[in-house]
Amino acid sequence: MADPQKDSGLYVIWMMLSMSARLQIGALGELDFTPGTYAYVGTAQRGRSARIRRHLAVDKPRRWHMDYLRPYVTVEGITLYDGHREDECRLVKQIMAATGAKRDHPGFGASDCRCGGHLLFLPRTLHEPENLEL
Ligand SMILES: [Zn+2]
Repeated sequence: MADPQKDSGLYVIWMMLSMSARLQIGALGELDFTPGTYAYVGTAQRGRSARIRRHLAVDKPRRWHMDYLRPYVTVEGITLYDGHREDECRLVKQIMAATGAKRDHPGFGASDCRCGGHLLFLPRTLHEPENLEL
């Protein structure tokens, strides 16, 4: 797990959407969201705690895809990992392998890479996996 003193690295935001929603997600357009658990994988080269606080805030200028989804979900937990931006896509794949999650909405949160998306969907409530090592 991550060194809590180090204010940089990867993070996963675990969220619950309680009802179906069609949402405008920035340039991705209108997307349909199914109720269930979502996991968003991101990274901050510095100021990770401030970045996470920003993700948790609901009322803010919309900059990232996550900002458009945030008002509609309940944040259930946050997991921190060591790593750099290029590790994001690998963490996405590891969460998929560990939980059975599927990518939801191609390109979500992945403007800077071509991996297919950093938002994962789990059709039922599932708590974040323990001891998921990069
Ligand atoms: Zn990626």
